[in-house]
Amino acid sequence: MIIAKNDLPGLLDKLMSEYEVYAPVKEGAYSLYKKIKSGSEACFGYVNSKIPPKGVLFPQSEKLFCYNMTGEGAKLEECIDSGKKVVFGIRPCDAKSLLLLDNVFNNDKFRDPYYLTRRENTLLVGMACLEPAGTCFCTSMGTGPFDKAGLDIMLTDIGDAYLVEPVSEKGGALAAGLGLSAAGEEQKAAAAKARDSAEVACRVNIEGLKARLDANFYDPIWERFHEKCLGCAACTYSCPTCHCFDIVDEAVDCNGCRVRNWDSCMFPLFTLHGSGHNPRPGGKERMRQRVMHKFKYFVDNFNATACVGCGRCIKNCPVNLDIREILADIQGEGRSDK
Ligand code: SF4
Ligand code: SF4
Repeated sequence: MIIAKNDLPGLLDKLMSEYEVYAPVKEGAYSLYKKIKSGSEACFGYVNSKIPPKGVLFPQSEKLFCYNMTGEGAKLEECIDSGKKVVFGIRPCDAKSLLLLDNVFNNDKFRDPYYLTRRENTLLVGMACLEPAGTCFCTSMGTGPFDKAGLDIMLTDIGDAYLVEPVSEKGGALAAGLGLSAAGEEQKAAAAKARDSAEVACRVNIEGLKARLDANFYDPIWERFHEKCLGCAACTYSCPTCHCFDIVDEAVDCNGCRVRNWDSCMFPLFTLHGSGHNPRPGGKERMRQRVMHKFKYFVDNFNATACVGCGRCIKNCPVNLDIREILADIQGEGRSDK
């Protein structure tokens, strides 16, 4: 099947009659996934969005429930969002990140109804990456510019149209309802050519990395990585797999709401105890935690690495700290003290 590019705004308008549609929207120099009000707002001429679309399923700030204290006790009103959604144009790395987040929000110990209800009601329409950025290293992290894992539909830009490939049953049903024309052999060949020429130049060696991290918690190497870190958390807020949060009550008199907000292990207050003790008192401990969580603890817990190689933490770090260089140093490939 194909979608002519000229028809795309109208098709998104059609989708909006049934779904909340989230798509990349140009904001100054950046692209961000936003809930669009018109198909013409979407802009697919982007490499990757500044912030990942994980916020559609795990919002930066969300009400969990509201409460009202009455003479008979507390009355609770749960705020579960069950609206039907489509994320249109999600990149393969970001779709993969949601498969990783599923482990966190749905496992033997915890089931998060807020995330899972949104997840169940959200379709992911992917957009293959024809020109990965210089900071992308997705192919080293078990995904790639044409990876369909986690998607419902994959789109490939073939010039004046997109080739549409249903991936899941839900995606097949969505595509079937859109009344698209069939793709010709020439269009399929154009998509195959695009796939063959998309190259992710950057490689990161993670062979044996977990074993090194298992053994190097006290390695002096951790003294160096954090030196210029500002603790701003831009790396974690822009990471599609980071998922730390804090829960607070926002109350007025006896009525209020319980709210979940993104948090970050890069903030000193994140682990500060009420006693004043902080088990991660300095930048060294916080940087070690960030790296260990992605490349060791997540592997211990879920047998997967919590990084998809999107490169956002590299692009967004104000002091140019580069996770690829940190990993190379840990691997003994770039360290000056080896
Ligand atoms: S650690 Fe960096 S490169 Fe890896 S998924 Fe997070 S933002 Fe992307
Ligand atoms: S973005 Fe850079 S400076 Fe900010 S917390 Fe992350 S590593 Fe540190």
